[in-house]
Amino acid sequence: MSGKRDYYEVLGVDRSAEQSDIKRAYRKLAIKHHPDKNQDDPTAAEKFREATEAYEVLKDSQKRAQFDQFGHAPEQGGFGGGFGGAGGGGFNVDLNDALESFLRNFGMGGGMGGGFGDVFGGGGEGGGERQRGRSLQLKVTATLLETAIGGKKKVKINKQVVCAKCQGSGASPGSKPVSCSQCNGYGRVRQVRQSLLGRMMTEAACPKCNGEGSVIQDPCGDCRGTGTVRGEETLEIKIPAGVSSGNYMELQGKGDAGSRGASAGHLRVIFEVEEDKLFQRHGDDLLIDVPLSPVDLILGTKVEVPTLEGKVSLKIPAGTQSHKIFRMRKKGIPHVNRPGTGDQLVRVLAWTPDNLDREMKKKLEALRDDLAARIPPPGRHLFD
Ligand SMILES: [Zn+2]
Ligand SMILES: [Zn+2]
Repeated sequence: MSGKRDYYEVLGVDRSAEQSDIKRAYRKLAIKHHPDKNQDDPTAAEKFREATEAYEVLKDSQKRAQFDQFGHAPEQGGFGGGFGGAGGGGFNVDLNDALESFLRNFGMGGGMGGGFGDVFGGGGEGGGERQRGRSLQLKVTATLLETAIGGKKKVKINKQVVCAKCQGSGASPGSKPVSCSQCNGYGRVRQVRQSLLGRMMTEAACPKCNGEGSVIQDPCGDCRGTGTVRGEETLEIKIPAGVSSGNYMELQGKGDAGSRGASAGHLRVIFEVEEDKLFQRHGDDLLIDVPLSPVDLILGTKVEVPTLEGKVSLKIPAGTQSHKIFRMRKKGIPHVNRPGTGDQLVRVLAWTPDNLDREMKKKLEALRDDLAARIPPPGRHLFD
């Protein structure tokens, strides 16, 4: 499970809480756990960050609705373990985001300053920061046979691609971005702001160049200076043998292109395996039901059983009970992350005909008492 707590629980509000209650609850928590006030409590920063993340989601009706529906799924790793709807990325707030968001929501006034060290560390990476492309999700369906042998599938996705006209620079061909005069190309500026807690120092993205360190004076006409345009890309997706529904893989750099040369987001490919008409999948084993006449079960027989590799003959010994399961080794689905293959399970079931003619009935009548005498009394687990 994800380590993330439920956002409502984090703020200590009810799922039906009004915006004003959510705001009040967040304000109380944020002030209580603000890192400035809790320098010797290392858990405070995390609590502050967590509360801010919860607030950022719950104050936004769209994000809140998405959270109500999807929670924090999908879980594991990847680009942040946040919740994601169709095509959505995750939602995560780091401590710097949290501090900035707190100031945005509750700061009072502002002002430029300089000459201070970073209060909370982090901040700009010099040379400006361009916006990384969004991470995307894509659902790929596979048939049971494809999951057994692996395969490839071509898919087309719509996404932001690098603008061909300016080759992603955002500047009209022939022109070049110029260094930002406000931050001298650094991309970030330091600010002293007055908040409920007193004066606080933060570093923030430069407002003039949006943290990019450079300004485009003559933007490209196709992408209006962003360096990316709507487009499509055809990808060949490899379906790993043994994959099951819900398995996914992360394709680095296959999400939206980043603005003006920034790195692209990821593409999360989520597999969905279609229901098969013949086989039911149980982990990596496949189950198939084979109906037989009671006489075949009594006397024994041979049956042709479908498998993923074609028909295979199976011997049914005399005196086989209905519901007995025969195991055909290694005729199932390959294990996805380790060597080996699952089995095919064949469940034989006595099929009772209900359309006998008079002649057949007569023959069976002759056997009725003899057979009945050989049947055990009712009890538990008779078919194990
Ligand atoms: Zn362009
Ligand atoms: Zn700037």
